[in-house]
Amino acid sequence: MENVKVLIVEDEASIRKFVKINLERSKFIVFEAESGEEALESFSSIKPDVVVLDVMLPKIDGFEVLRRIREIDNEVIVIMLTAKSQDMDKIMGLEIGADDYMIKPFNPLELIARINTIFRRINKDESKNKK
Ligand code: CA
Repeated sequence: MENVKVLIVEDEASIRKFVKINLERSKFIVFEAESGEEALESFSSIKPDVVVLDVMLPKIDGFEVLRRIREIDNEVIVIMLTAKSQDMDKIMGLEIGADDYMIKPFNPLELIARINTIFRRINKDESKNKK
């Protein structure tokens, strides 16, 4: 996938780097934020196509970051990272606008596959609308 910008929001540097390396290998353009604050500050200037957003972040958690992103952008693809199954229930229940979620630990190749699947779905919808 070319010219797709991904913003990784994760306070754990090791996970951030690991995801970044794998996404870059698949030709994504990767930006990092180590806190919710940083993600929200840089969101408008980066204009990412995809946000990979950890739930467990200090101060502003991933749900709150997602809520604030959705106030300004309904198009951006958001994939939540969660360590606990309860978080998954919250994601499904709150319907705050995540497109997908991954439960840690996860295979970065699966993350990439899911991003590609969402893009394929969007492209299909767009070609449908053109008819
Ligand atoms: Ca975290």
